[in-house]
Amino acid sequence: MSQPNTAQRLSAAELCARLIRFDTSNYGEGHSAGERDIASWIHASLKHAGYAPQIVGPTPARASVVLRINGKDRSLPALLVHAHTDVVPVEPSQWSVPAFAGHISDGYVWGRGAVDMKDMAAMTLKTLLNWAENGIQPRRDIVVLFVADEESGGEFGATWLVANRPELFAGVEAAIGESGGEAIPLVTSSGETRRFYPVATAERGTLQIRIHATGKAGHGSRPQPGHALQRVIAACDRVNSYEWPLHLTGTVREYIETIDRALGNSPDLSDEEGVTLAIQRLGPAGEVALATTRCTATTTVINAGVKVNVIPSHAEAQLDVRCLPGTENEVIAVLDQLVGDDAEWEFLAKHSPVSAPYPSSWFDAMRDAIQFYDSEAIVPPMCMGGGTDAKAFATLGISGYGFAPLAIDSEGRRPSGMHGADERNPVECINGGQKMLERFLTRV
Ligand SMILES: [Zn+2]
Repeated sequence: MSQPNTAQRLSAAELCARLIRFDTSNYGEGHSAGERDIASWIHASLKHAGYAPQIVGPTPARASVVLRINGKDRSLPALLVHAHTDVVPVEPSQWSVPAFAGHISDGYVWGRGAVDMKDMAAMTLKTLLNWAENGIQPRRDIVVLFVADEESGGEFGATWLVANRPELFAGVEAAIGESGGEAIPLVTSSGETRRFYPVATAERGTLQIRIHATGKAGHGSRPQPGHALQRVIAACDRVNSYEWPLHLTGTVREYIETIDRALGNSPDLSDEEGVTLAIQRLGPAGEVALATTRCTATTTVINAGVKVNVIPSHAEAQLDVRCLPGTENEVIAVLDQLVGDDAEWEFLAKHSPVSAPYPSSWFDAMRDAIQFYDSEAIVPPMCMGGGTDAKAFATLGISGYGFAPLAIDSEGRRPSGMHGADERNPVECINGGQKMLERFLTRV
């Protein structure tokens, strides 16, 4: 293992590669690897640079690292920067390179976590090391958190810290974390390229539900119409085939309109057809829009039965439901209606949607930092389709933004492979993004 004191000499991209070499796979249900080792390494790197970081967490294995840097003006509300250190597991056979080797080649950093989100952890660490080296103090207090267990819901990371160590976040008003600020180049109707850096100001809510039913067990050769499993299947079927209505929140509307107009079009978002056409014109920027124009529900787990000739007395299914800001109660009422009297349902987890103030001085500062390095950047607000640790911090009243900036790659390549195979991130995106992040954190 290279010594932490070499960290200061590494670029953000090289630091990202170094962090990838810690296999921090999070297998869920409390099983993880490597979070203690990566936390120790980050802790030692920060100490070597003269900081006083702390290792925190419910057990030594589920370690997170936290550090508060005092700002010049301590009367200003503080900002939290959070980056998770765990990653999702890999299927090595699907990869063309070893997933935890931390290779840099062909202008990419390769490996699990290169995009989600050891890139942001590395950019944040690089910023802190630069500050230490150059004697720079940020304008306001910055709380930096390298946090465990995001990929399995944060029970041993963000959620634990919020419940057990809330004093670490004293005075924090806003936070930045993953999924936002990435450069997306798009070609206009007249053939020019425009660069968009959507910053997340909202997240859909995560409602994980369980539908279950009980009945009489019996012999498979004596059909019982409407037995427990059939009722659960029927309820899931009603939920799965329900057409959730189009619901454009202000954020999603502005996201689609800003990008589509900048591409030289005149979006008409007054009906489903106009929205579909506008989203198609957004190309890769349309993916997140598509996931956030309505609520969604997907059956992901079903448990019932022990043997083919036995009618089970009990059946259950689990569904992943995502709701837009402002729709939670409506979605719950629809689920009640769809499940009906045939089965029961309850929450396995209920994480409400979150929204951060927009427009706001926080958002302006992020846009300014991006535009300082890319004067033609267009920075629209965005709603995330999934969820992050921002939801846990929101319970302390902290407004979460998705801002982990990635600059443009000169060959137009983009990060890819998140949660899949051959995850990789262009070196230029990470090193350029780190400059944007550093400028924001210093001046905000
Ligand atoms: Zn992530």
